[in-house]
Amino acid sequence: MSEDCVSALQASLGAAVLSGDAIPERHYSDATGHAPCRPLAVIRPISTEQVSTAMRLCHAHRCPVIPQGGMTGLAGGAVPTSNSIALSLERLTGATEVDTAAGTLTAWAGMTLEATQHAAESAGLRYPVDLGARGSCQIGGNIATNAGGHAVVRHGMTRDQVLGLEVVLADGRVLNLMNSMIKNNAGYDLKQHFIGSEGTLGVITRAVLRLAPALGDTHTVLCAAVDYAGVVKLLRRLRGSGLSLEAFEVMWQDFYAMSCNWSAMAPPLDAGLPLYVLCELEGDESRLQGILELSMAEREISDAVVAGSKAQARQLWKIREATAEFPSRLAPINFDISLPIGIIGEFAAAICESLNERWPGCRSAFFGHIGDSNLHLTVDANSLPVNDAAAHHAIESLVYGLVGKRGGSISAEHGIGLLKREFLRHSVTDESLTVMRAIKHALDPRGILNPGKIFTSEPIAMSALA
Ligand SMILES: Cc1cc2nc3c(=O)[nH]c(=O)nc-3n(C[C@H](O)[C@H](O)[C@H](O)COP(=O)(O)OP(=O)(O)OC[C@H]3O[C@@H](n4cnc5c(N)ncnc54)[C@H](O)[C@@H]3O)c2cc1C
Repeated sequence: MSEDCVSALQASLGAAVLSGDAIPERHYSDATGHAPCRPLAVIRPISTEQVSTAMRLCHAHRCPVIPQGGMTGLAGGAVPTSNSIALSLERLTGATEVDTAAGTLTAWAGMTLEATQHAAESAGLRYPVDLGARGSCQIGGNIATNAGGHAVVRHGMTRDQVLGLEVVLADGRVLNLMNSMIKNNAGYDLKQHFIGSEGTLGVITRAVLRLAPALGDTHTVLCAAVDYAGVVKLLRRLRGSGLSLEAFEVMWQDFYAMSCNWSAMAPPLDAGLPLYVLCELEGDESRLQGILELSMAEREISDAVVAGSKAQARQLWKIREATAEFPSRLAPINFDISLPIGIIGEFAAAICESLNERWPGCRSAFFGHIGDSNLHLTVDANSLPVNDAAAHHAIESLVYGLVGKRGGSISAEHGIGLLKREFLRHSVTDESLTVMRAIKHALDPRGILNPGKIFTSEPIAMSALA
């Protein structure tokens, strides 16, 4: 059946279909490198019509389809199986349209985040989503994962930037939801179903995105906090300062020391301090100086350095972006969790203690977008006495179990994909899961869109949901 589907696709879409040895390896797995696999074929459409044709044929043949963006995902969401068709949006780029009166940008799904940022800048505006994978990740992938990044504390997640969408449904119908207004209460806001749905409900082909004004005077500051309570007080102080807080990133001591060491950089602040806060603020510099002095006088922070140039600001960000080197320098077991901001310090200490109790010498690094309650934790599996699947699973169970007990989320921004399916119940109730499955069934009754992602077993039939 699947081979028939490939033949039908080739007959209709010709050169847009790659099969066998012609399939580049970048389509085998995403940034996790998890379970690499060559799909039956890769379709690389250049128009919404081609996406629609591809979906109609795959639907008719009941052939699984895996939407693929820039393959920078960290949850295994775009990983294909050998009996599936990968639908890559990489050629769906074309020209963008910027409406300066409305402050919107219309982008094709395959545009990279970086190209979108540049298009907004060329029009004197700004697309405020930013993350380390900006050069490769695509707008469609960002929307499908509801990506977060560095500026969520001010602008919200990708969801908050999306005004309209064009989506191809599982059976090939095109859903035109290309709204470009901020206010629109005409019935259900259907686009929300597709944002963060990880390619399981529809294929995103175009989007209308909200733009922000260009940034004014911005300052990059690295502070050393005396403890986690100091971090929280500094956050409150900056939020109420009249300055606009663009980013509030926290690095625990081990992460900071490791990153400075890797870059052979003399640490801008002494490396033996408990916590480091990297902030980006827009506004008056003298006001910022006053706040830092007050925060020091109140013993929230013990030291701070303000970047004096763009180059210095980049150096400070380099410390935080050392995560890009994790795959080559560590055997990383990555966590992307969220918890109420006030308890993150205590949670990190509890996890650290439990890890060391069970696996003495276990090396871990804590960091994250703490301004938006998002903690990242990376455990270096090379530091475990035995680095095997059972140890990985035990560490995941320990961390996610504690996240569930504290009312947190097992995925703050990367999604569930393949890697976190088993732990979804720690953050989602049975009732919510039933509703999610009902939505999946309504939009994709044959279960062909990204099967096996998010849910551990395939969605059940509607009759079982009644
Ligand atoms: C160095 C680095 C830093 C990162 N930093 C961050 C960060 O700060 N914040 C953050 O949130 N993430 C971060 N990520 C993760 C990743 O960049 C994001 O999840 C990103 O949004 C994925 O986009 P992509 O185009 O690469 O999607 P892919 O990896 O190709 O796919 C991701 C998921 O979206 C689906 N999908 C892709 N395109 C479409 C489409 N057009 N229609 C429907 N479904 C689609 C896929 O099926 C898959 O389930 C980082 C990754 C790296 C490697």
